Amino acid sequence: MSCQPMKEHFKAAMKRKDGRIGAVPAAVLAVLDNKISSLCKPLHASSDHNPIFAVAMVKEAAKRCPLVCCEDNYLIKRKAAFSPQFQAELLDPYSQNDVCSKFQAVYIPSSDDLMIRGIEIEIEPQGYFMDTLAGKLGIREGSCIMMSRTVPRAPHDTRLYCAIPDMRIHPHSSEEALVGVTLPGEDKLHRNKRASYLLGYSVHGDAILASVGSTWKSEGKLTFADVSVSCYYRLLIGRTPEGSYKLSRDAILVSKLPHSFSSRAQWRGALPRSLLFDFCHQHRLADPEFFFLPTRASGDTGCLEMDKGCSNSYKCRTKIVYEGQAMDFESEHHYRNRNDSVQSAALQALVTLTSKVCLQSTNSSTKVSVEPSPVDETTGLSTSSIFAYGTHESEQQGFKGSNQAQDDSNRIIATGSMACISCNVWLIGCGLIVKVEEHEEFDFELGIGGIIPELENTVLGMQADECAQLVLPVPSLESILSTHEAVHGFERSSIGMCSLRYCIKILRVLEPPEDRMESALFSPPLSKQRNEFAVSEIKKLHAKSLVDFGCGSGSLLDAVVDSSTDLECIAGVDISLKSLLRAAKSLTTKLLLKDHNFKQLKEVVLYEGSLAEPDISLCGFDVATCIEVVEHMDPEPLSKAGDIILGKYAPQTLILSTPNIEYNVLLQKLVDTKASVVGDSKRAKTSSTGLDLAASLDDPSDKSQSVTLSDDESSAQPIKLRNDDHRFEWTRAEFQEWAVSLASRFGYTVEFTGVGGSVEDPGFASQIAIFTRNKSVHSPGLEKSFDVVSNLPCYREVWKYDRDGLHR
Ligand code: SAH
Ligand code: MG
Repeated sequence: MSCQPMKEHFKAAMKRKDGRIGAVPAAVLAVLDNKISSLCKPLHASSDHNPIFAVAMVKEAAKRCPLVCCEDNYLIKRKAAFSPQFQAELLDPYSQNDVCSKFQAVYIPSSDDLMIRGIEIEIEPQGYFMDTLAGKLGIREGSCIMMSRTVPRAPHDTRLYCAIPDMRIHPHSSEEALVGVTLPGEDKLHRNKRASYLLGYSVHGDAILASVGSTWKSEGKLTFADVSVSCYYRLLIGRTPEGSYKLSRDAILVSKLPHSFSSRAQWRGALPRSLLFDFCHQHRLADPEFFFLPTRASGDTGCLEMDKGCSNSYKCRTKIVYEGQAMDFESEHHYRNRNDSVQSAALQALVTLTSKVCLQSTNSSTKVSVEPSPVDETTGLSTSSIFAYGTHESEQQGFKGSNQAQDDSNRIIATGSMACISCNVWLIGCGLIVKVEEHEEFDFELGIGGIIPELENTVLGMQADECAQLVLPVPSLESILSTHEAVHGFERSSIGMCSLRYCIKILRVLEPPEDRMESALFSPPLSKQRNEFAVSEIKKLHAKSLVDFGCGSGSLLDAVVDSSTDLECIAGVDISLKSLLRAAKSLTTKLLLKDHNFKQLKEVVLYEGSLAEPDISLCGFDVATCIEVVEHMDPEPLSKAGDIILGKYAPQTLILSTPNIEYNVLLQKLVDTKASVVGDSKRAKTSSTGLDLAASLDDPSDKSQSVTLSDDESSAQPIKLRNDDHRFEWTRAEFQEWAVSLASRFGYTVEFTGVGGSVEDPGFASQIAIFTRNKSVHSPGLEKSFDVVSNLPCYREVWKYDRDGLHR
């Protein structure tokens, strides 16, 4: 009786009648007593896996122990009677409990033909719950039932109860200790497939899933909780690493296990590492091991010395043995934070294992159908635009033109933002209509697959306050059954023929922390200042053509189109298709719906491609811009991009901006003062205006970069980067060294300036370099600088405007 739950259980057993006072089933000892179960582990390796081995060992040990007797096969009882004093002491608080305990449990028949059903269990005041459960299973006595370990992610203390198979431990053999499994009674019991699946080892006969028992918190009282049939289905689909792990927040039809880990602050629900441990546990796999990979060696990146400031960048690998095969998974990229790299590696493992253990046979080629909803069901207001995208971006269906004022076009939702939506899901068809899921407020990070892809694609095309509705086929029957008790009354076959209607409304959007910080601490927001700076340069230079490298969602292109310039030809390039589609949406609106002041503008093209790859169509532009992009690139691609932009594309002017890390200390101070004005940082965190940075900069787990801000090496202190996606941030000296070296290699002169703050220490918040091609230097015969292979265009044209209309 070495541990509390056991002691509490023993109190319950003391109430038993007919000379069974204090008699305890072997299963209870084997499962509830930690000391006993850990003693069993080295004796029989499988006892860790399947507690039935521990039960057999406990029984053998009890038989040989002179102090106890082992009746009825599995009932263990002390030979000497308990002293009345001991009984009184133990029973005192317990005997006060004289009401019936009633709760819901789930009956899992061993025959597949019989349905899983909910049952009510009623335990009389003086009853012993193991006996009651045995009665329900048609087993004569509580000691003859097996108790599983607790089922993870189920209500507290949920276990599976079933018949105990008869087995003997061979006394002299260590390896093959198990002589055989025969089941008691005349009838041979069938393997219960559904229950076995839940536990990960074979279970025979009917089983009951129930949450009942005496825990150390309950002080001898019987505690219990309802376990619903929906809960059973949740556990069933929760065994796959598919998003069902996020079921804890009841978002079965909405959420998914994201495929990418950015930071802890953006993650909702249990973290990937803990999910992976659960997964391994449920699938009886050895615990995953994590290794840190050595950081990249610097030096092979030519003139770049970026690793100098990035000495603490972590990449992690995890090893998992699955079906006898060792598998390695690596974190997606390098993380400033050790723990983030672990989470990322764990997530990669979960994502891969999802495809291996796929219970749900979801049809991946499902098409989204869009149905117009004239009225928003929650507000009764007419929705201004309804649209949805196909499962694949190529199948994108046009959105219905929004007639809403578009002045605030910056509100288009960006990847990395946290969105908060309300979402109702209805099961419709075959004459039924049931609301199966309801979320008044559901937040998630955009762009990492945290919700089902159809929904995410829809949200990415929306703006705050917009509503949309989409109709999808039902995923798996299990996932529908796990949503709502109301659906259990329907025929299984008719559920399969229904569809799901998602009604969503964007409640609010929190931009990524960097954007939030920039608009909270700078007026006008820093991003606006950068764009205004670039636009004024473009005007000054009377540029006729502009290419924006890493244009993202097109904030600069929007600003350019909004002001009158001499530009005739504009191009945007980005590696992210999703960002480009948002840029396209916003430009479409501006170019089509607004009276614009640029009659000379002939063409706007958006290309999908990486700056580390050259494409001949980008040669010969008057001005190139590269705003807040370099810090998102790893050393090698960045070094290539520098050579390509100045060496091959050779624009007359390149305007390039990047954060000045020296300014971050000041930002921190600004954040602190702002936060104290707003109140505590927690409140700031939830406020929709978003001073979330205050909270995120306070989080010691956030990434930081060790940097020497003065000549005094000893004063080196870690500085937090402004955005989780930044690979590095430069000091003024580092930036200038890089830029000067790049400029000198390709015949450019470079000048430095910035926006936000001043030239005085610590410099501008955003540092800007303006590269100008030397007149004397002969423009490198553009075509000549491309070899035959790289001459082929490699960028994909995503969207194009020419004066005569729009083409996609
Ligand atoms: N210039 C925009 C976006 C800055 S965010 C603005 O000022 O608002 C950085 C952008 O660089 C992202 O859109 C990202 O997709 C893009 N990017 C990062 N690496 C890239 C690469 N190798 N090639 C092209 N674009 C890249
Ligand atoms: Mg940035």
